[in-house]
Amino acid sequence: MAAPGILIIVASPSGGGKTTVIRHAIDRLAERGIPAHFSVSHTTRAPRPSEVDGRDYHFLDRPTFERMAASDAFLEWAEYAGNLYGTSNAEVLARLERGEDVFLDIEVQGANQVKTSIPDAVKVFLFPPSYGVLKERLHRRRQDQPEAIRQRLHWAMRELSVAGEFDYAIINDRLEEAVDAVVGVCLAEHHRMERMRSVLHTIRSEFQHALDEDFAHDATRS
Ligand code: ADP
Ligand code: 5GP
Repeated sequence: MAAPGILIIVASPSGGGKTTVIRHAIDRLAERGIPAHFSVSHTTRAPRPSEVDGRDYHFLDRPTFERMAASDAFLEWAEYAGNLYGTSNAEVLARLERGEDVFLDIEVQGANQVKTSIPDAVKVFLFPPSYGVLKERLHRRRQDQPEAIRQRLHWAMRELSVAGEFDYAIINDRLEEAVDAVVGVCLAEHHRMERMRSVLHTIRSEFQHALDEDFAHDATRS
């Protein structure tokens, strides 16, 4: 049976580059034969002009979201800037069991909830290099109204103030370097001793078997 996949939570202020960095990291991992999935969240927020239902988010109304939350369909959910956002168990659990890594692009309250139900999830905080760069990226993305951008910049300060609780800090200045760092974290996490135990067990068994055979052969000669 495949070892379980790793759940990698990527948080940052909105516009910090989570979507961009995760998409590139998944392509790079695929080149190395490591399957990884970008979890598609549910939200009550209205779609942005370029967003597609089912690809960027599952868009739904508040009563439907609340019914899903009441029936424990979510691994985590949170309210952000007046809208509800949640990760469904269906997006994540079966994939992890199959050995696929799963990336979550979520805000900090949700990240903490996930850690309680999946303690070996890895928490990565992506920092924008500065306030000015974040503001510029939010404007350049041309997807949010000025009021939504203002709200996101205020929220950013709260998010930065809890970033110290994360496992890894990556500054998203040069995109390639940020992607390298996320891929590096993912590869290193695959080699944690706790995740390697069953592989090591197989190697030790093979080693013992081969050693015994080798010396059994010697013993019959002497
Ligand atoms: P998030 O998912 O965190 O809200 P996005 O991935 O949508 O952020 O990125 C916000 C904007 O910044 C997008 O227009 C994206 O192309 C741009 N961007 C992301 N990372 C970088 C980077 N390292 N350098 C320049 N632009 C970037
Ligand atoms: P946006 O509206 O800019 O797409 O997202 C706003 C914030 O909600 C971002 O910080 C994003 O990471 C977060 N978010 C997106 N999906 C989820 C989710 O499923 N759960 C939680 N807790 N936050 C999410």
